[in-house]
Amino acid sequence: MVEKVVIIRYGEIHLKGNNRGYFEKVFMNNLEKSLTGIRHEIHKPSGRYVVENYDETRTDEIVQRLCKVFGTHSVSIAYKVPADIDRIFDIVSQIAPKEGTFKIVANRADKSFAYNSMQVNAQIGGRLLAKNPALKVDVHHPEHEIFIDIRENGTALVFNAFFEGAGGMPVGTSGKGLLLLSGGIDSPVAGHMIAKRGMQLDALHFHSYPYTNMQAREKVETLAKILSGYIGEMKLYVVSVTHIQEAIHKNCPEEMMITLLRRFMMRIATHISNQYGAQCIVTGESLGQVASQTIEGMTSSNEVVDSLPVLRPLVGFDKTEIIERARKIGTFETSIQPYEDCCTVFLPKHPLIKPKLEKVHEAEARLDVDALLQEALDSLEIVTIN
Ligand code: ATP
Ligand code: MG
Repeated sequence: MVEKVVIIRYGEIHLKGNNRGYFEKVFMNNLEKSLTGIRHEIHKPSGRYVVENYDETRTDEIVQRLCKVFGTHSVSIAYKVPADIDRIFDIVSQIAPKEGTFKIVANRADKSFAYNSMQVNAQIGGRLLAKNPALKVDVHHPEHEIFIDIRENGTALVFNAFFEGAGGMPVGTSGKGLLLLSGGIDSPVAGHMIAKRGMQLDALHFHSYPYTNMQAREKVETLAKILSGYIGEMKLYVVSVTHIQEAIHKNCPEEMMITLLRRFMMRIATHISNQYGAQCIVTGESLGQVASQTIEGMTSSNEVVDSLPVLRPLVGFDKTEIIERARKIGTFETSIQPYEDCCTVFLPKHPLIKPKLEKVHEAEARLDVDALLQEALDSLEIVTIN
């Protein structure tokens, strides 16, 4: 049997001049982690990564997992044969179509190989045509392409498909953030986008048990689990805001619920970030999407976060664009399950759209902010997601 290998090509890491060694090391580590539990070896001959000696019964799963690792540009399953024109032709003729149009695309990294890439194309293409009269060459718009990569170490890799990778930069090369993860559509997409830029993430979820139920909690764990397929292991911090919502409900004007709750969320997020080493807070807010996501609402939330940047990667996105991404990354179906989020529990009929800071301060003065904050922090549970 001909040995198969999986080729992983990487994208943007190429750009990182002096830091390249570091980026490649983190990437390799993330690739390794993504294949945990599957027999494999990863090597790095020049300019790409190659998975060898792997469990071939799980090839599809390996490709799927590798495609999700940020930094991966594309993945191919290739046959590995000695760099010998007859051996190459044997395998090409096995995987080639029997009819239609095709093109051979050879690449010769080993310049000592007897034929240059044009000659390989001609040799292999010519023999294939002779063997299959129903085939035709079309170099511009072929139905099928077969790639032959002649490597320096006396081997050739033959493959016919590219699987699209997640792109971006390896997680862990851009610091660490804390994602505010609701059960909605937006926040998982926001997390995916930031992680794609190389940021490691932990997540923070607020619940209002018993107003919200266990299914809402499980839904968030499922979303975190889907995200961890891209990001790797993450912590999910879970905090109760029940008493905060009750206190706001009891003491403050109804329309201020969301504005005030968001400020508590941001304070809690700041504490947890500082305690567990996150350098920023990430949310799924999008400008003007709902009443609380106005610039005034964001100003009010930002006011209580003094030391950390708040990243809102979806700020300029339409809902339809966010949904498209949610479908693509596989979170949409989970996000639309109909369980109550804490924000909907005491939802005012007419939330304040443009909160004025002095009104916010006035309402907040009726609450014991520090005690409520401490009580919420005391409810912290930490779940490891991987
Ligand atoms: P999403 O679809 O992410 O829930 P949304 O459009 O429903 O967003 P909001 O409910 O106003 O918007 O929330 C805005 C952001 O605040 C969310 O994207 C998320 O980052 C954060 N957030 C809201 N509710 C929670 C929660 N229960 N736990 C953690 N973060 C939350
Ligand atoms: Mg929401």
